[in-house]
Amino acid sequence: MLTLTTTHVPATDLGFLLRKNPARSQSFNLSFGRAHVFYPEATPERCTVALLVEIDPVGLVRNRRGPSGEGGALEQYVNDRPYAASSFLSVAIAEVFGSALSGKSKERPELADTPLPLHMTLSALPCRGGQEFLRKLFEPLGYTVSAGQLSLDENFPDWGESAYHRVELNALLPLQKLLSHLYVLVPVLDNDKHYWVGDEEVEKLLRHGEGWLALHPEREAITRRYLKHQRTLVDDALAQLADESAPDPDAVAEVHALEEETIESAISLNEQRLGSVLAALKASGATRVLDLGCGEGRLLQALLKEKQFVEIVGMDVSHRALEIAHDRLHYDRLPPVQKARLRLLQGSLIYKDARLAGFDAAAVVEVIEHLDPPRLAAFERVLFEYAQPNTIVITTPNREYNVKWESLPAGNFRHRDHRFEWTREEFQEWAHRVGARFGYGMRFLPVGPEDSAVGSPTQMGIFERNPA
Ligand code: SAH
Repeated sequence: MLTLTTTHVPATDLGFLLRKNPARSQSFNLSFGRAHVFYPEATPERCTVALLVEIDPVGLVRNRRGPSGEGGALEQYVNDRPYAASSFLSVAIAEVFGSALSGKSKERPELADTPLPLHMTLSALPCRGGQEFLRKLFEPLGYTVSAGQLSLDENFPDWGESAYHRVELNALLPLQKLLSHLYVLVPVLDNDKHYWVGDEEVEKLLRHGEGWLALHPEREAITRRYLKHQRTLVDDALAQLADESAPDPDAVAEVHALEEETIESAISLNEQRLGSVLAALKASGATRVLDLGCGEGRLLQALLKEKQFVEIVGMDVSHRALEIAHDRLHYDRLPPVQKARLRLLQGSLIYKDARLAGFDAAAVVEVIEHLDPPRLAAFERVLFEYAQPNTIVITTPNREYNVKWESLPAGNFRHRDHRFEWTREEFQEWAHRVGARFGYGMRFLPVGPEDSAVGSPTQMGIFERNPA
């Protein structure tokens, strides 16, 4: 079973993208069994679709095509296929969500290419090569991965762990991308295919891998496994991928940046936060952006590298921080075109400020927890009522996660200057109140490794102004 959740508002647009009505459940006949599509939840804030694939092992043997398997008769009837995600799931995705897999949407064409906050669970995914390989496959594509290994049989703990994992993936990606990643990578993790692999599989791999496989750090392993280790097919596919990857140096640079990020331990929470905020700002389509409480200018530096942003303004109350930002960005030595895009302002977020009006988006990264609670109300009006950008991205620590650190640098809080740290519920409650008051819708995303009990170290809220 695969479930897919979005908190993109309105979340029920997922039904349009998949061309499956959230109000009813549907079943489809497949050559090897049946697929069922239903929605365990469908509200404007959060919508989940489930794809349950039921495999008929007896039918499989009867309908067997191509060379028969080596295993004895028993193995043909008794195997893991009905219970594990495999190439059968890929086929079901292609059959049942075909138009979404090819990136088409009649009713929501603009949404088909839009990165959406997506959360996916696979109840039993065989990971041959272990969790390490699972991460190597998905993390370079922008996913955060969490996985729990399933025991072989809960009644017999001595038998140990199985090769199956319950897997959760989070990403901000267009739905089509996510489906094509799954289509290719599930059989790769399983390291098997239920059907004969021939020339047309090379074409299928290249088609579904378009735009991501050629530059994936694990492209060789993916290709080998996808093509069932058949030398001539693998060589053919890799040669075509090499052609595809040659001409676009921008994309190469991008993947190198992603490769670096996958060195999990080396990438700090700081950088992950920056990446998430940057992705949210890019996805909003904003061109004129504010970084409020910009501190030493790390986000500004990243924003400058993106051509999308034509006007970038950083503001901070601290002179010293602005001086450091000024140096970090080599402001004095910037070419005139770059310099014209960037301004640094000194000011406080608790005073109404005309300089902040008229922007498309604002980031407020790890700042609100520095404000005295009585001042928070002033900040709300300054940002949501007077500055009023269409998109607001706010991050703040998730206090629940603090239990995961052996020691906190500042006693109860992560930083001496923090006036409060909120639980996820507290942050979301605040966000909903502010959104309702000033006319913004919102969604929430975790930043950093997510723990099933206490969540992720940083919480991010993305606010979108309701149309007038
Ligand atoms: N956004 C930066 C810095 C976070 S630290 C980053 O992610 O690295 C918090 C910043 O908020 C500090 O630079 C501090 O000077 C600034 N700040 C605190 N109170 C503020 C206020 N009232 N107005 C503007 N900036 C403020």
